[in-house]
Amino acid sequence: MKKKERLGARINMSEMFENKNSRTELSQLGEFGLIKHLTQWIELKNKSSIKGVGDDAAVIDCGEYVQVITTDMLLEGIHFDLTYTPLKHLGYKAVVINLSDVYAMNARPQHITVSIGLSNKVSLEAVEELYAGIRLACQDYEIDLIGGDTCSSESGIVISITAIGTANKKDISYRSGAKETNLICVSGDLGAAYMGLRILEREKQVYLDNPKMQPDLQGKDYLLERQLKPEARKDIYEWLTENRIVPTSMIDISDGLSSELLHLCEASSCGCMIYESRLPIDHLTAEQALEFNMSPATCALNGGEDYELLFTVPVELHDKIKEQGDINIIGHITTAENGKYISDSQDQIHELSAQGWNAFSS
Ligand code: ADP
Ligand code: MG
Repeated sequence: MKKKERLGARINMSEMFENKNSRTELSQLGEFGLIKHLTQWIELKNKSSIKGVGDDAAVIDCGEYVQVITTDMLLEGIHFDLTYTPLKHLGYKAVVINLSDVYAMNARPQHITVSIGLSNKVSLEAVEELYAGIRLACQDYEIDLIGGDTCSSESGIVISITAIGTANKKDISYRSGAKETNLICVSGDLGAAYMGLRILEREKQVYLDNPKMQPDLQGKDYLLERQLKPEARKDIYEWLTENRIVPTSMIDISDGLSSELLHLCEASSCGCMIYESRLPIDHLTAEQALEFNMSPATCALNGGEDYELLFTVPVELHDKIKEQGDINIIGHITTAENGKYISDSQDQIHELSAQGWNAFSS
């Protein structure tokens, strides 16, 4: 056996955060660069570890079937604002965003664990509300809550959920399987959750400026619901399964379509061409975007928090995909040398760039 590395006990308090020789800001790497930097040493040692870091979920061989495992953390003040987020909605959403990552592997989620950090400003009634949302999501998606952890927190509410799902090994869709000529498909419509967030932020500001004002949210139900109570695409997963379609690649687009399509192309070593005119945008999203002086396409490409599935299938499945009704074909996969592009409504071609969510962007 290899000798264990000794860490020793020398501690220098001031050096902890200020190494005089070098200091690199996390914003220089960005979230994805940081993850890469921290995990590049990993070599999977256990035969059962089929896929580790780098996809929507890890994949573990269990013999007859595989298990997929994913985890996501939500922090108060970073991921949610309790001024306008009802706790029941928050609990629901915290579960759903994890389930979305399981569906993105083309697997069926069955179990979750829930870990929470609570500050002393949180009452029992408040945690009960949070759990009412968690419970509702477990009912709606037929999930068992099988454990977790409970801690006190000095900096607001923390929620970390792990979801576990199962699939046949041959049915798993990785980010890495897209092939030239494959169709690029996306479920649902895009940009609405971001518009919902912008409305809530605007009304918060109005309220802070004048606490007597009540928020004006008339006619905004759809946009707000997409932000506060998103759904994972269980129905799309089930439709794919019923129709024996295994996407050649799949990813969930919580961080924005552009950013996730770039991840998919990078993992698959391919290029892409998508068409702005084919981006699915609800008319309420488009109207709201124009009210905010934004282009609806920008919201759809970079808004984020649309828990929809982005996937690729062989071109022969074109008509079958069209039958489903809530899946749009937005372009096709090309070779890596061809690059990653979007064609706008005037047929001008632009390089696809990611402006989506990045936890450590400067
Ligand atoms: P998603 O947006 O689908 O939740 P992330 O972008 O958070 O995925 O993570 C990308 C990949 O990096 C995943 O495989 C995830 O498990 C892994 N990952 C993220 N943070 C860490 C970390 N601190 N240590 C090890 N792996 C990580
Ligand atoms: Mg994901």
